[in-house]
Amino acid sequence: MLTQITENILVLQSEWIQRNAVIVRGRTGVLLVDPGIHGYELVALADELIEHGDAVTVGFSTHPHWDHLLWHARLGSATRYGTARCAATVQARLEVGRDMAKQTAQDVSLDLFGAITALPPGTEYIPWDGPRVRIVEHQAHAPGHAALLIENDRVLVAGDMLSDVLIPMLDLRGQGNPVQDYLDALRRFEDIASEADIVIPGHGSVGSGDELRRRIVQDRAYVRALQEGHDPVDARVGPDATFGRDWLPGVHARQVRMLSELGN
Ligand SMILES: [Zn+2]
Repeated sequence: MLTQITENILVLQSEWIQRNAVIVRGRTGVLLVDPGIHGYELVALADELIEHGDAVTVGFSTHPHWDHLLWHARLGSATRYGTARCAATVQARLEVGRDMAKQTAQDVSLDLFGAITALPPGTEYIPWDGPRVRIVEHQAHAPGHAALLIENDRVLVAGDMLSDVLIPMLDLRGQGNPVQDYLDALRRFEDIASEADIVIPGHGSVGSGDELRRRIVQDRAYVRALQEGHDPVDARVGPDATFGRDWLPGVHARQVRMLSELGN
């Protein structure tokens, strides 16, 4: 059920759009990043952690979208962190997020939904007693989105970026410039790519360091095509798009339309 990625890092993939929960083992317990979607998945994860004697000592949500804000009482009452902008956005959109979760996540209480504690702005590392986990904050995809670099393990947890199955989804309702914010975030990933041998996206397959670099190039090509107003050559929205994600061309069309309305 849990897939071992390195000695300290495990992944549990949800049935829902291959959403990856990430578990990092520390000295006295684990860090749990973006736990899964359905109630039965969260309970199975909790049971497996309990079986191995791993208590969750800290949680982290990479960004304020509903599918990254779920929790289950069985996982315990650890503090769940996010960046300050992430936590503020969760609060501002709490009811909307809860409604979206209600429509998709099966069999899960939403009492613990979105209980995110803000880290002080500029916090560099997750405060806990495990391996050093660097916070790489940017403004692509959602306000206060953070990727995590687990330095010693050389693993980049990308949040909802660098996916092999989903196209870049821009934050078209945010305050900033969605295209530039996305390109800036990809540049930051490029700057730290030499520090990672493995990428774990929020949705999709775990990849190697080469795959990390390939996805940066692929996502940049997609965003530049959006910016320049021509159709991207991108298998993720092409005729061979994997069955079950036939809604992606619709997401792409909406991004094209909204960007032209924004005057980009
Ligand atoms: Zn997501």
